[in-house]
Amino acid sequence: MAYDSNNIFAKILRGEIPCKKLYEDDFALSFYDISPQAPVHVLVIPKGPYENQNDFAAHASEAEMVGFMRALGKVAEMAKLTEGGYRAIANCGLNGGQEVPHYHVHLVGGGKLGRMVERD
Ligand code: 5GP
Repeated sequence: MAYDSNNIFAKILRGEIPCKKLYEDDFALSFYDISPQAPVHVLVIPKGPYENQNDFAAHASEAEMVGFMRALGKVAEMAKLTEGGYRAIANCGLNGGQEVPHYHVHLVGGGKLGRMVERD
């Protein structure tokens, strides 16, 4: 499936929709989730047009991959998640429950989290 450049995160990247920004560099943007599922819930997205983690893994350059991973680490520190621990989640496709078709990682924490996987 081709990348949909009208998805909501693409619009946030282009500045067409506001976000509560936490971090930005050449490779990644991080902002608070509009509907937090934990005391701390931030999203980290790559700047390139990748639909999901598989697309990113297959097509991102090494610089983009390293940059994105470093950004995940920085954001976890900035959001004060590292000391108490946290969870990084990348929902992928239909079974993963991915709603926004631009690759993103949820960083959630700020308190003890529930069981890892719930099934509908
Ligand atoms: P997914 O289900 O695709 O893994 O997660 C998408 C996430 O994006 C959801 O947690 C949802 O709350 C969040 N989200 C959807 N629209 C917006 C928006 O316009 N702004 C922000 N900050 N988060 C959004």
